[in-house]
Amino acid sequence: MTGEFEIIRRHFTRPAHSAVLGVGDDTALLRPSTGSALAVTTDMLLEGRHIFPGANAEQLGHKALAVNLSDLAAMGAEPRWALLSIALPKADERWLKAFSRGFFRLARRFGTELIGGDTTRGPLAISITAIGEVPEKLALRRDAARAGDDVWLSGATGEAALGLSHLKGRVSLRGLARKACLRRLHAPEPRVKLGRALRGLARSAIDVSDGLLADLGHVAEASRVAAELRWEDLPRARAIRECANAALAAQCLLAGGDDYELVFTAPRSKRARIEGLGATRIGAIVRGRPAVRVLDARGRIVPTPRTGFDHFA
Ligand code: ADP
Ligand code: MG
Repeated sequence: MTGEFEIIRRHFTRPAHSAVLGVGDDTALLRPSTGSALAVTTDMLLEGRHIFPGANAEQLGHKALAVNLSDLAAMGAEPRWALLSIALPKADERWLKAFSRGFFRLARRFGTELIGGDTTRGPLAISITAIGEVPEKLALRRDAARAGDDVWLSGATGEAALGLSHLKGRVSLRGLARKACLRRLHAPEPRVKLGRALRGLARSAIDVSDGLLADLGHVAEASRVAAELRWEDLPRARAIRECANAALAAQCLLAGGDDYELVFTAPRSKRARIEGLGATRIGAIVRGRPAVRVLDARGRIVPTPRTGFDHFA
């Protein structure tokens, strides 16, 4: 039977290059770059709540880290280090191997070092803390949107939620649509490069984890402004466009979580440079009570699902 320290040694210990001291002591030791603020975030995945029983271990390793790197991306921060706390029902070598493969593959791509954590027996739970760096004045905060800003979105929203609907039997996806949606749901790609490129261009940003309307709503609240989105301009992935259930597709587009795209605001003067980054302009920030409205081509309000995913609703 593999013990706790054997698990850590075999699966979670890699040489740390940028940390002064990595896994193995009472704490890790970090030397932050001069002039940068540390960006620190943590996210938890629980079996039964965020994790399907029997979920693919390699994808879990990827996703648990990806959702944290996405938060760093949404601040414009460069990922540097991560801590991994994990509760496991048993020491399953194959599972651990696959999990750490998924974790380290993504970590390597974004220059993130695993520097510590905690390992214990229990119902499957994974909590990762990610630490990044960003020049303090350039951080993409939620409270910095201003009336007159454009609203932009990277990629497109809705595929992850549509994939989840498929797994729950609410819709039946096939072929490439199914593949794209399940990939999105299980192996999201954090927009780290884009987040970094938006330093000095965007004023505020947030990643879409709970749904486009809900997450942009957080920006509107924090910045004390309203956001108006143009229904026709919202980018739609093929699976969303071709979905047989149009109401479900619209719900996923506006309120589906787990896509991990970035929605951000920027002054009009930055349009040309942001277009070059591949984002889509989907609306504008206006003065007024904090709200997010979706408008049709004639400026009429499109009825929308009000809220995204709330763990306590
Ligand atoms: P302590 O008792 O001081 O908390 P532990 O015995 O829990 O130390 O852990 C030993 C070392 O292994 C520490 O450096 C800790 O950060 C690291 N560690 C434990 N679990 C993990 C994990 N899942 N991933 C990475 N490092 C881990
Ligand atoms: Mg410990």
